Amino acid sequence: MEIDAAWINIVYIVAAGCFIVGLKMLSSPNTARRGNLISACGMLIAIIVTLLQKDIIHYQWIALGLVLGTFIGAFAARLVAMTAMPQMVALFNGFGGIASLLVGWSQYEIASAILPWPTALAIFLAVIIGGVTFAGSLIAFGKLAGVVPVKPMLYLGQQVVNSLVLLILLAAGVFYIGHLAPGSTYITFLVMVGGSLLLGILAVIPIGGADMPVVIALLNSYSGLAACAAGFIILNNVLIVAGALVGASGIILTKIMCKAMNRSLANVLFGGFGAVKTKAKHKIQGEAKPISVEDAYILLEAARSVVIAPGYGMAVAQAQHVVNELGELLTANGAEVKYAIHPVAGRMPGHMNVLLAEANVAYEQLAEPDDVNPMMDSVDVAIVIGANDVVNPAARDDQSSPIYGMPTIEVDRAHTVIILKRSLAAGFAGIDNPLFFKPNTRMLFGDAKVSVSGLVAEFKSV
Ligand code: NDP
Repeated sequence: MEIDAAWINIVYIVAAGCFIVGLKMLSSPNTARRGNLISACGMLIAIIVTLLQKDIIHYQWIALGLVLGTFIGAFAARLVAMTAMPQMVALFNGFGGIASLLVGWSQYEIASAILPWPTALAIFLAVIIGGVTFAGSLIAFGKLAGVVPVKPMLYLGQQVVNSLVLLILLAAGVFYIGHLAPGSTYITFLVMVGGSLLLGILAVIPIGGADMPVVIALLNSYSGLAACAAGFIILNNVLIVAGALVGASGIILTKIMCKAMNRSLANVLFGGFGAVKTKAKHKIQGEAKPISVEDAYILLEAARSVVIAPGYGMAVAQAQHVVNELGELLTANGAEVKYAIHPVAGRMPGHMNVLLAEANVAYEQLAEPDDVNPMMDSVDVAIVIGANDVVNPAARDDQSSPIYGMPTIEVDRAHTVIILKRSLAAGFAGIDNPLFFKPNTRMLFGDAKVSVSGLVAEFKSV
């Protein structure tokens, strides 16, 4: 069945509207689920009209792809642990990139006449950005999964080598666009494909594991730009719009993540953060004071305002459900409870929000560091659940600290801080935390789920 082009564009506008409304709704946990669904519906109708548009499409291949993709996707979503989600997002970005590269390559292969230069330019961009996204995402996946060394890999002249590869790619692109006769530029085209993959690897290996959230957000943006270029190749309006939206939202997320770490994007990409173990000049003074579950309960029972700061350890311990239970018990006991969520807590953007939403924590109780820090002096007890870097006061107090200037949740300013973790070990950034040794800090050692369950049991026993 062939549909009139005008109708198709009207449906595409509806689909694009769904994407925009969905994206807007994703910005609040209250509306995020519905936003996701609306965007998915937009994509579904866009796919359906696209498939109805052309008679030449072989539906059997599409059906096969659909069944296989659904099967693998559903399996992966069910099997992948919440803590491994960042790796999965990195892989998804990579698949987006390789899809755009392949669209560009297939158009190059099937072109039987001289291509107009704008199409050739779009092919060049889809191949280059898609290739960089694919290879870079695989390295990011490897770093997060521990398959590739997490530390930045640095060597002398690294930036010169990277710039050289980029120059070769640009030169290949100019040559390719200037010589458009089919088949006359095959070697150049292969240089573009190989060079983009090489550049993706070279660009991500010097970036340390602690900066992977920014890299993933950036690669997400690249995958959108590559899709946008692919949209220009096959002249598909909805792909252009969807790609541009992903590109723009990815870059906004990148900016938010950089701000949360107090780093510039250039510093993240070229700074090699974490390559050299930088020791803070200030020696940590004092002694860590352990606390038992029973004593921690006594402090909490008397508290009228409590801030809960979760981090990666809560995800590892899968403690979110008992944490919610503890929050409800504290509220029932007359305390005002807030959950302070740092933008880079955990191992992916929104990690804590996802876990707490899964445990049905009320959205109104979630607060950002900027909302919760001004009231921290009046907080009776701050409970830190498996967080470390995001509550490190060295970021505020110690100019020699590698994380100096990074905004944190200032739990040390609360009357008492109870830290739930298994040891005094450092967090992801590998930096010591003077918070453990402050006079108002108590360490509740052990697995976060076990400790919180103990506190819940204490509340329930009275
Ligand atoms: P951290 O990695 O700084 O610290 C987590 C702490 O959790 C560890 O010190 C560990 O201490 C503790 N822990 C681990 N398992 C358990 C458990 N079962 N029970 C109790 N505690 C546990 O986490 P934060 O959330 O504070 O900071 C996130 C860090 O990760 C930042 O450096 C950020 O830049 C980085 N990052 C963030 C990403 C994102 O997008 N959010 C992605 C990639 C990296 P112990 O071993 O003593 O128990």
